[in-house]
Amino acid sequence: MRRMISALLWPGLMATCIALNAWAMASSRPMLYFNMIYFGLAAALFSLERLMPHERTWLESDGQVAPDLLHTFLNKGVIQAFATAITSMGIARAVDPMPGDLWPDTWPLAAQVALGLIVAEAGFYAAHRLAHQWRRLWRFHAVHHSVRRLWIINTGRFHFVDTIVSVALSQPLLYVAGAPQVVFLWVAAVTAFIGILTHCNVDMRWRLLGYVFNTPELHRWHHSRKAAEGNANYGENLMIFDHLFATFLFPARRPPANIGIDEPMAEDFLGQLRQPFVPETNAVAARS
Ligand SMILES: [Zn+2]
Repeated sequence: MRRMISALLWPGLMATCIALNAWAMASSRPMLYFNMIYFGLAAALFSLERLMPHERTWLESDGQVAPDLLHTFLNKGVIQAFATAITSMGIARAVDPMPGDLWPDTWPLAAQVALGLIVAEAGFYAAHRLAHQWRRLWRFHAVHHSVRRLWIINTGRFHFVDTIVSVALSQPLLYVAGAPQVVFLWVAAVTAFIGILTHCNVDMRWRLLGYVFNTPELHRWHHSRKAAEGNANYGENLMIFDHLFATFLFPARRPPANIGIDEPMAEDFLGQLRQPFVPETNAVAARS
């Protein structure tokens, strides 16, 4: 029974959120209802983390709730500012196609959203892979990888520079491709739902889904301390580019519970914001 529930949780919660969001998008207050759906999902996952945790030791406090939430709020501000800027600059079109647009407006909406997710994923994948392979960017991304447990509260724990790079590489692709606003909104909603599910500490097991989507079962490998395991699975929502560029890793065993990074990371929010800007020799010197 438990096995069946853990298999159906991810697709069940995703389907519920997508159905509710379809209703919200057709209503007069789509943003308000989207936020209610998102917080409803967060509340459900918070309870499920206690009822059926993947890793019981991850329920213990790591003293990082305040920095986790402060990073989350700052990132939400950055993303909204970016969306406002790009809209006010007239880069985003509203509903009507513009001459020369390549976007397939005649496709069913679900197919357009699927295409939108793939287009945005190209940017997400590039930004994430760059953040792991270019030391300068890794120092920002390390704030996210310094978590010692995975749970819904640290879903949004990213250094704001890390977020800017990711948004700047993914969102303009959608605009350049001529995606209509409704697709942009759907991609944002699906990214938010998949993101919080990906980080939750709930026992969700349907291995096959991890070959297509960024599921929690798969993403836990990305937080491994071992570089060979962590430098893989860069997909934000879909794993298509990990398959294409051979960075997909999904061993058929339990992922490590001892996650994080071996290099030092400040424990407080301001220290975490500052650390990637401090020249490395000084950072190392300050540690000793
Ligand atoms: Zn990463």
